[in-house]
Amino acid sequence: MLDMFSLKGKTVIVTGANTGLGQGMCVAYAEAGANVCGVARRSCDETKALVEAKGGKFLEVIADLSTTEPVKRIIDSCIKEYGSADILVNNAGIIKREDAINVTEDDWNQVINVNLNVVFFLSQEFAKRAIESGRKAKIINICSMLSYQGGFRVPSYAASKSAVNGLTKALCNEWASKGINVNAIAPGYMETNNTKDIKADKDRNEAILDRIPQGRWGKPSDLMGTAIFLASSASDYINGFTIAVDGGWLAR
Ligand code: NAD
Repeated sequence: MLDMFSLKGKTVIVTGANTGLGQGMCVAYAEAGANVCGVARRSCDETKALVEAKGGKFLEVIADLSTTEPVKRIIDSCIKEYGSADILVNNAGIIKREDAINVTEDDWNQVINVNLNVVFFLSQEFAKRAIESGRKAKIINICSMLSYQGGFRVPSYAASKSAVNGLTKALCNEWASKGINVNAIAPGYMETNNTKDIKADKDRNEAILDRIPQGRWGKPSDLMGTAIFLASSASDYINGFTIAVDGGWLAR
């Protein structure tokens, strides 16, 4: 039974591999048997060491995902090194906090470029290669509670993550028949760089904890079971769906 969760012989590309949830997923995928291609703006030395400590293989691809320029190179590098690209995890993301009334066009565009535009075009290139090769493939997008809610002072982030939720369904509709599963994970409030400012704010932290039925922040490790599940053949008939990993936040 547990074999259906194994990723032995699979290759996974994880964007934003140097820190936080991306780093955690790289290690989890290696433990599940996959070869890992980690994409990041800067060195992934720490992630590489963690993956290798688990006996996994790690290929680092340095790329700035604020433009589509590196999209083809990322997929090419992965296929050249490992012979295939089976799973793509669109994890890299940024957040900019500002009153909506003061958001600049430049800040707006930066968030939409990383969190949405590059997610689409990297998925497109990945899907082209998967379809050409005739191999089954999986795309996992990283959504957010703000794929469902508006939040405060993060309009570009809420817009991008809501769009990624829609994109997950749109791509499923077109690519499911071609052997590609497109799903997403919506993490709740997880302890990473992305949330360190709000966690450090005593009032915000208390308000967040009060609303989480499980009464604690999530840790990168909380995401790993779902990340493995959606990458593995255990989820072969799940398509176009976003799974929340949120300690019950959305149930409130
Ligand atoms: P993080 O800040 O630790 O990680 C973000 C990653 O994205 C980093 O590896 C960073 O290098 C990468 N990245 C950002 N801009 C990039 C660019 N231009 N080019 C290449 N890489 C770039 O935060 P995290 O919490 O690990 O975030 C990972 C994902 O999870 C993001 O999409 C984030 O929106 C999402 N998310 C996080 C939480 C949370 O509570 N932490 C909740 C919901 C969703």
